[in-house]
Amino acid sequence: MPTASFETGFETSFETLPSNQPMADDIRGNILSNPGFGKYFTDHMAHVRWTQDADWHGHQVRPYGPLMLDPAASVLHYGQEIFEGIKAYRHADGSIWTFRPEKNAERFRRSARRLALPELSDEDFIGSLKALLAQDHAWVPTPASTSDECSLYLRPFMIASEAFLGVRPSQEVDYYVIASPAAAYFKGGVAPVSIWLSSNYKRAAAGGTGFAKCGGNYAASLAAQKEAEAHQCGQVAFLDAAENKWVEELGGMNLFFVFKDGRLVTPRLTDTILEGVTRNSILTLAKEEGLTPEERPISIDEWREGAASGEIIEVFACGTAAVITPVGELVSENERIRLKSAIEGAGDSNEVAMRIRSKLLDLQYGRSEDTHGWLTKLV
Ligand SMILES: *Cc1c(COP(=O)(O)O)cnc(C)c1O
Repeated sequence: MPTASFETGFETSFETLPSNQPMADDIRGNILSNPGFGKYFTDHMAHVRWTQDADWHGHQVRPYGPLMLDPAASVLHYGQEIFEGIKAYRHADGSIWTFRPEKNAERFRRSARRLALPELSDEDFIGSLKALLAQDHAWVPTPASTSDECSLYLRPFMIASEAFLGVRPSQEVDYYVIASPAAAYFKGGVAPVSIWLSSNYKRAAAGGTGFAKCGGNYAASLAAQKEAEAHQCGQVAFLDAAENKWVEELGGMNLFFVFKDGRLVTPRLTDTILEGVTRNSILTLAKEEGLTPEERPISIDEWREGAASGEIIEVFACGTAAVITPVGELVSENERIRLKSAIEGAGDSNEVAMRIRSKLLDLQYGRSEDTHGWLTKLV
């Protein structure tokens, strides 16, 4: 197989083993015209290996395909795993960019520390995205219009691969990046979602892994997600585990509340809340939009009362995949919390959510000036 080295612009270089069976242009074109989410994968994947003795080594981009994993690999038994989610956007001039990757790299190290996995440098993290995109840039969809939110979703992840059933941190670890073309999260426009308030399940407790992006948190949220779906809700909202009172976040998105007087409130970060890059960016953009961001505890009572009185005029969720999603109602076993405007039939305008949403997307797709230095060029 031919090999080539690709300099990432950082210190590390990835050896490239190009696929000899890349997807034909016409088939890839068909996929990119209707990619859905997380169903199709590009021709290559990036890989870096870690062992206790040799540290990080063997940087490679190679053909996408099944992993060879010993059945005793500790990830399969004890779930020692972390991941990230970040997108690549094609700009109008054809160039390909990503959004604040150093924030994801930093969070990946925070997750790694909590899961007793080795830390990966910014150079290797961002370098792996660049090296993969150097091969698979044709997989980044071209938006058909300014309202087309297609992208290439990148999924870096790290697994404990040592074949050992003893319970201790793995001494062999593999880091990979795979990529999957993504359509706009909402077909036919952004629509408010119904959220299920779980009373049977908690997502995270103090001292646990709530702030880390690890598969285990998601595994633990799936029973609640099933409950939500049984009640025609698309997502689950979780309250804190200690007092069952404080609003934390959704299974995979952070929450914001827009108040009538221009305050924009989001739960303050604790070790039970995951710090979204989208959340962090919205806090900055909100100020520029004349809103007053507040990071503080917000209780379910405040949500209920603010929605009823009209103090709270919008609720929205945010994350890389869906950007910003208005929350239409919060549903639980014994109640349904809806905003006053929606109950009175005035409809939900979600004007603030949609304004911040456009501002964020304009930045990501290069349609407005990157005054914060948030974009990194991949190709
Ligand atoms: C990934 C994730 C988010 C959103 O983070 P972004 O960086 O904005 O995509 C929020 N909550 C949880 C639990 C997550 O896993």
